[in-house]
Amino acid sequence: LASREMVPEGRKVKVRDVVFGGPELVMIAGPCAVESEEQITQAALGVKAAGAKMLRGGAYKPRTSPYAFQGLEDEGYRLLRHAADAVGLPCISEVVDPQDLDVAAKYCDMVQVGARNMQNFRLLREIGRSGMPVLLKNGISSTVEEWLDAAEYILSEGNPNVVLCERGIRTFETATRNTLDVSAVPVVKERSSLPIIVDPSHAAGKRSLVTPLAMAGVAAGADGIIVEVHPNPKTAMSDAAQQLTLPDFQQFTQEVRKVAEAVGRIL
Ligand code: PEP
Ligand code: MN
Repeated sequence: LASREMVPEGRKVKVRDVVFGGPELVMIAGPCAVESEEQITQAALGVKAAGAKMLRGGAYKPRTSPYAFQGLEDEGYRLLRHAADAVGLPCISEVVDPQDLDVAAKYCDMVQVGARNMQNFRLLREIGRSGMPVLLKNGISSTVEEWLDAAEYILSEGNPNVVLCERGIRTFETATRNTLDVSAVPVVKERSSLPIIVDPSHAAGKRSLVTPLAMAGVAAGADGIIVEVHPNPKTAMSDAAQQLTLPDFQQFTQEVRKVAEAVGRIL
């Protein structure tokens, strides 16, 4: 169902008034995690003012260490919704367990399946049954084939509202947190009808590399970007090194726009 042959012109995925897979690139921005009402509200105001089309913010954080901040959980979804409504943006947050899908669906316009859950087939099936728009990230060590099979789990339950997100893969290179697989973008476009966006933040792991990676993704044909932006990254409770400040984000959108225009897309 996800194959290019099924829908040769490519699928479009709508989330309220945002369309993935059309001429306009979708810019999703916001903090790694929702930390407080003030933090997410400031982030929402700032990213909206700089032109973001959707607000992100993690409520359930899949952290490598069990001792690291795990997110505000359901309260995080609630605060995200409140901040998104205050600025009139749709919002997205991760779901890590099928049990949380109902509450996520109540507060979010789109759910994210993170890299660590790309092959959580129960979760994928439940999201498939829910019909909710979903952003499916690639697994840290997954092939494109495995990724598209994961998408198929959602589509085969009757939910075509799947957007893929390339977030970097694990390689021998340690200069970056992950290696952004830019080639995955045209490979996915050849094989699949699904829109694909790029996450330069989790690939880079480092603020200074976020802009060039986003530019590369857009040049390769990505349908949008999801980027981490925090009103005060120094105090961030997760992913502090890679989150852009609000002024950084403004600059970032201007740089990425140049590439978008060069490849005939709108941002
Ligand atoms: C995130 O988006 O904050 C996240 C945890 O991403 P990933 O699953 O790509 O690591
Ligand atoms: Mn993060």
